[in-house]
Amino acid sequence: MPRMACIDCGVFVAEAESWQAMLVKMMQHHLEDHHDVISGHTDRPAGAWMERFMMAYRAAEASDAKVP
Ligand SMILES: [Zn+2]
Repeated sequence: MPRMACIDCGVFVAEAESWQAMLVKMMQHHLEDHHDVISGHTDRPAGAWMERFMMAYRAAEASDAKVP
C-alpha cells in the first residue's frame, strides 16, 4: 500500500490504497494541523497544492510497487 508523508510537514504519514483515500486522510490532517494551507489563500491556489499532492502520491505509489 502506498505510504506517504505529509507534503507540508513530513511528520504525518498515511497509508491508502488510492489517491482518493489518501486525499481524505491528508485533508483530515490538514484541517487539524495546516488549516492555513488549505483555507483559501489567494496566493496559494488549491490547484497548486493538489499538484504537489499528486506528485508525492505518484512517487509513493512508484516506490511501493518496487517492494514485493
Ligand atoms: Zn502535515
